[in-house]
Amino acid sequence: MLPAAELAHELDELASRHLRRFRRTIGSVQGPEVELDGRRVLCLCSNNYLGLAGDARLIEASIAALRESGAGSGASPLISGHMAPHAALEREIADWLGCEAALLFGSGYHANIGVLAALLRAGDEVLSDELNHASLIDGCRLSRAEIRIFRHRDVDDLARQLARPSRARRRLIVSDSVFSMDGDLAAVREMAELAERHGAWLMLDEAHAVGVFGDDGAGLAAALGAGARVTVRMGTLGKALGGYGAFVAGSRELIDVLVNRARAYVYSTALPPAVVGAARAAVAIARSEPERRAALWRNARRLHERLAGAGIAMQPLESPIVPLMVGDAAHALRVAERALENGVLAPAIRPPTVPPGTARLRLTPLATHTEEQIDRAADVLIRAVEESRTA
Ligand code: PMP
Repeated sequence: MLPAAELAHELDELASRHLRRFRRTIGSVQGPEVELDGRRVLCLCSNNYLGLAGDARLIEASIAALRESGAGSGASPLISGHMAPHAALEREIADWLGCEAALLFGSGYHANIGVLAALLRAGDEVLSDELNHASLIDGCRLSRAEIRIFRHRDVDDLARQLARPSRARRRLIVSDSVFSMDGDLAAVREMAELAERHGAWLMLDEAHAVGVFGDDGAGLAAALGAGARVTVRMGTLGKALGGYGAFVAGSRELIDVLVNRARAYVYSTALPPAVVGAARAAVAIARSEPERRAALWRNARRLHERLAGAGIAMQPLESPIVPLMVGDAAHALRVAERALENGVLAPAIRPPTVPPGTARLRLTPLATHTEEQIDRAADVLIRAVEESRTA
């Protein structure tokens, strides 16, 4: 078979299971509404939680950094790519999270595989929540450490696994702090306690918590007063902070080891100055405008209440990620299609992103949606669920 024919067969096989994916091209700035195929639709699926992706201050900061420092960083950070804006942003992030140092990565995916592969090696042990993000799973695999999966958010299961005799040089517990597809929260304090009791390290992926949790948006560990008990805190710049990139924060020694050992850091071009400029503006806004977080939470609660009020079975709201559970992949596609026909963009999330039989619409209101927009989205979604049941 020719390669193209073999690949076409693979795509057909995905389609037959309702698991083939397609991209849609957005024709506008990201925001509460976006343009899709020449039509304005409500965007209920982005991670632009604080609505900063289109904020004029980020755009201006980005242009200023571009003019001052140029279009590209030209090299990886250890060669000549680490520039004044990068150093400033790292200091600002460390100050925000209340830790000694921070390190920028090209993306959250880079950060997770970089950290795990740098800190762990064959013979070490990594204890990983079963619903952790794909980038953490890939980092665990890349590290060659022994992987022990514990049941989702189950600290008793984690405790049992830690209590087993181990000859590992190093043991690291790793978890999303806010789970990306369910919006539920890790038991951060309990995990920190277990880590301390067993001499293990704790790594938290705060991709969906940075900007969203805490009085100044410093994430879930900070909000719980547990920041100093977490060995590695990873956060992204492409979600609530509206831009692109990621960071790892922790002790000076952690950051220095990563500078030496994290291959995804060492062997990859540093972020472009414009992206760093936007992130600096975003950090300042996320810290100083708690009203954005309040609006985000208000919108999430309103959406959740409206859906639950219509008789849709909803999990308790723990973060602004509101999953509308459907179950079957084909059914979830139908609900998403109906919603889009009526002006709401919220694609179906299917395996392997979520476990089989748990396809869903992952709904994420933004701080910048109006009450009217949330109500309109809720009406459309409720109707889509009802119509797809009877279809
Ligand atoms: N961790 C989590 C929990 C995520 O949801 C994501 C992005 N979906 C990432 C890491 C990866 O971050 P990035 O998009 O910056 O690569």
